[in-house]
Formats: sequence, C-alpha cells, structure tokens
Amino acid sequence: MLGLMQSQPLLISSLIEFAERHHGDAEIVSRRVEGDIHRYTYRDLAARARRLANALDAQQLQFSDRVATLAWNGYRHMEMYFGVSGSGRVLHTINPRLHPDQIAWIVNHAEDQVLCFDMTFLPLVQAVHAKCPTVKQWVALCDADKLPADSGIPGLLSYEAWIGAQSADYSWPEFDENSASSMCYTSGTTGNPKAALYSHRSTTLHAYAAALPDVMCLSARDSVLPVVPMFHVNAWGIPYSAALTGCKLVFPGPALDGKSVYELIEAEQVTYAAGVPTVWQMLLGHMKPAGLTFSSLKRTVIGGSACPPAMITAFQEGYGVTVLHAWGMTEMSPLGTLCTLKNKHLSLPKEEQMKIVQKQGRAIYGVDMKIVGGDGEELPWDGKTYGDLLVKGPWIVGSYFKGEGGDPLIKDSRGRGWFPTGDVATIDADGFMQITDRSKDVIKSGGEWISSIDIENIAMAHPSIQMAACVGMPHPKWDERPIVAVVKRPGTEVTREELLAFYEGKTAKWQIPDDVVFVDAIPIGATGKMLKTKLRELLKDYRLPGL
Ligand code: ADP
Repeated sequence: MLGLMQSQPLLISSLIEFAERHHGDAEIVSRRVEGDIHRYTYRDLAARARRLANALDAQQLQFSDRVATLAWNGYRHMEMYFGVSGSGRVLHTINPRLHPDQIAWIVNHAEDQVLCFDMTFLPLVQAVHAKCPTVKQWVALCDADKLPADSGIPGLLSYEAWIGAQSADYSWPEFDENSASSMCYTSGTTGNPKAALYSHRSTTLHAYAAALPDVMCLSARDSVLPVVPMFHVNAWGIPYSAALTGCKLVFPGPALDGKSVYELIEAEQVTYAAGVPTVWQMLLGHMKPAGLTFSSLKRTVIGGSACPPAMITAFQEGYGVTVLHAWGMTEMSPLGTLCTLKNKHLSLPKEEQMKIVQKQGRAIYGVDMKIVGGDGEELPWDGKTYGDLLVKGPWIVGSYFKGEGGDPLIKDSRGRGWFPTGDVATIDADGFMQITDRSKDVIKSGGEWISSIDIENIAMAHPSIQMAACVGMPHPKWDERPIVAVVKRPGTEVTREELLAFYEGKTAKWQIPDDVVFVDAIPIGATGKMLKTKLRELLKDYRLPGL
C-alpha cells in the first residue's frame, strides 16, 4: 500500500518560489567586482532568476544543457543558481583559480553552451574562449555600459542587457526530481578532474539537512556571510539553505582579504560566516594586531581542510565566536559531518569539550559512514582504530559525469554501494569522526602511521607559527619520516630547535618531526587548501638530517 500524500517533486525552483512568497523582503547584500555594495531582496532575486530563465529559453537551450559560471560570490551568481537549475538546465560552476588549460578542458568535457563570467575573469576568458567550441554564448556579468568595446570575444553580451530584454513572467517547469541540477569538478590533484553531477532531489535534501540546528543551524534571524566560494561545491549549499530559511545573505565578491571581510562582517552585522581555514587565518591576522573585536559574529563554520585547534581557541576564547568544524567533499554535495556537542557533554570541563569540538564531527542524517580496514571489514567505533572512511546517502555520488573513472563504489555484503572518501579516520563511541589524514598524505614510519594533521596542529599552536604543512620524506630504515614546513608570523622568531622542543610531551616521541624547514609560503591550491604535491616538488632536493 502506498501512502496517500501529495506527490510533488523536490525541485530547486521550489526553494526560490518559497523564498519569494514567505520572506521576499529579506536582504541580499553583495560586494561587487566594481567595489561598491549592491542591495536587494529575495523578491528581486526571484524576478531576475525568471528573466534569466526566459533568456535561456530564448537561447534555445534544451533541458539538461550546461550553463557555466566563472564568478565570485554575488547576487548575479545567485540568480544563476536558481534561473539555470530551476528552468531545467545544469549549472556548471567553474573554479577560476584552476589553470586555464584545465578550465578549457572542463568546459569541453561538460559541453557548456553558455558561459557567464565576472569581469575579473575577462583576461582568462580571452585566453580560453577559442579553445571552447561548445560555448555558443559568452556573457559578462556586468551592466551594458561596462562591456568592453573590443573584448575579442565574438558575440559577447552583458548579463544585464541579456536578461533585461526578457520578461519576469515565467512558470517554473515541473520535472523528475532526479534530473541533474548542477555540477562541480573535483580539483583533480591526480589525473583529470571528474565531475559530481548533483540532482534537484540531492540538492533540496541537502538544503534541508544543512539548515538543521546540529548542522549549519541557519535561520531567518541570521545574517550569513558565505566566504566559501559559490564556484566550488555550491558554497557548501548555503545559497539553497538560505532560500529555504530566509536568512539575510552577505556576499563578499572578490575581496577575501582579512580587512575587507572584517569590514563587511561589521557593516552588515553578520552573525554567521563560513569558510576554509586559510580565509580565517587572514581575518584573524588582520584583527589581532589592530586589537579589533566582533560586534555581531556568533558562529563560524570552518571546513574544507582540518581546522587547527589553535584557530578554534582563537575564535572562541579571543572573540566569543563558536566554531563549527565541518567535513565533506565535492562528491558529497558537500556536507558529511559537523561537530556540535551532545547534551551529555555540556557539563564536561572546557578542556574535555575542546577535545571533542576539534574533531570533524557527527554524521548528518542522510549520510551513513563507516571505517574499514584493508580487508574491507568494518572497524570498531572506539576513537582509536583508524581506517578508510566510506560514506553513502542520497546526496553522495553514485558515479561521475560521463562515467569517468568507472564505478567508484565499494559494495557491502548486502550489495549496497559505499563511496570511498580517500580519507583515513577514527570514529568514537558517540559517533564523532576524526580525520587522521588523506590516505595519500598519511606518513608511514616503521610500519606505523603518523597523522600529518596532528603534526601541523601542534606547530600551529606555537605563537610564532602562521602556517604549517607536514610531509613524509623517504628514509632508508623507517620508510618515511615526517618533516614540518612552517611559515613564521611576521615580526616573530623561533628556531628549529625551539619548535622541535615544543613537540615534547604533545605527541609520542617517534612522531615528532625529524626536521623543520622554514619557508616563505606554503603552496595553496585552487580551493584554498595546502597543496602537498607542490610542496613535495619544492622539497625534491631536500634530504633528512644525517642521511
Ligand atoms: P578536492 O576537490 O580538493 O578533492 P574537496 O573540496 O572535495 O576537494 O575536498 C574534500 C577533502 O577535503 C576531504 O576528502 C578531506 O580530505 C578534506 N577535508 C574537508 N574538510 C575537512 C576537515 N574539516 N578536516 C580535514 N580534512 C577535511
């Protein structure tokens, strides 16, 4: 017997329709590429998304055709999130920090038909457009009078002229909720990038889950600053959850330096911000020397790479801001776990609570996870045993776009497919998962594993260290030994010996790095994470002391 409730597909258009009807006057504020501040409401957003949908129809784009963006976080990008997917096309957000050749490769692989870009990326588009034959319309996200006279890009249109010529009357089509809605290529640190192809169903379920109190905890009372880019994994789904909750949205545009982000937080009374650790490093680096404080910020979600405990303490103790440590990946839409305490933890001493909130957290309903050993057998949840982390759920990839890489899933005894995350983790009895490392970064020393994240976190707790990256170096006896590359905080001093002594008592003796290498900067990849492959290249002539 089937249930007798209404059957209505979960579509992204329903989010924007809901936003317009139920919190149409909530504000969306954007710092534009031009540098000024733009303000409008969800009502305006919905009307312009409909104009865009009409423009795509006029372009004769078919159902599931791809429309790409090269854009910062801003209102026009937000319109594309809804106008493109809502009308049945697939939004392909491209990471502009990738190499131009890689961008051209991705555009061709996705067979993008329209590509809309912020003016910042005009030189990039000029460099790649001739290599992208599938793109039949290039659109600059600007006013008509800002369009350069001689861009060299055939038929280039301004977004405002393009959608301005269209009516705001449009009825969002109804179709199968499993239809593709958007896509995002993984950074492809090894081999060619592969695309996760999200569906309307996966995106709306993720939007519900992300808003939950023990997840991102978004509400109509929040003023939310997603620093995490809309060009990578849908800004952790915030645009969709924002439409669902009616929070005020504050978009930082291209200005991601500490000063600009701080000023925006204060000016727009941001209560909630989301980003990767490197962004918060810049923010705290700006605030500390100037003795600045926050007047409104209450919570920040930090994820994408391990959040150093020193950063959690700096936010919580120094500024009264609660840090929510999050873990996920492109293939997971991206949220998998968030770290919030349980009721039974509230009476624990602060230090005990701190040990918990450093972890990557508990699985969200909709994500099932387990750790397995080399034989594929599930390992215990004891907080000590580590294994390969596998996940499954309705917003986790089943396979990649165009079947790249074959079937990625690992079948269990009941035939259910689990996605291998490539992360090594522990899970404790309360279900808190902690990432030990990415499997390719873990350091294998004398048959034991050393977590590069642990080694980095200790260095980052030293007052003179701004950034730390730990990698394994070949060793004839131990196989690999860890070394730590560090960037000193400006105006501070620390010697190799002092830093090594700082490790004493904080980790097992055999896990203490063999050496410290002082560097000017740690290479950062397109998504703001440390690029260990690049660091290893830079250190290719390095030899461990005594070898
Ligand atoms: P890429 O495109 O670099 O593969 P993703 O943005 O999908 O990137 O990154 C996913 C990976 O980032 C995870 O598998 C994990 O290794 C790492 N990661 C994400 N969040 C965290 C976190 N909070 N702590 C540690 N590692 C994290």
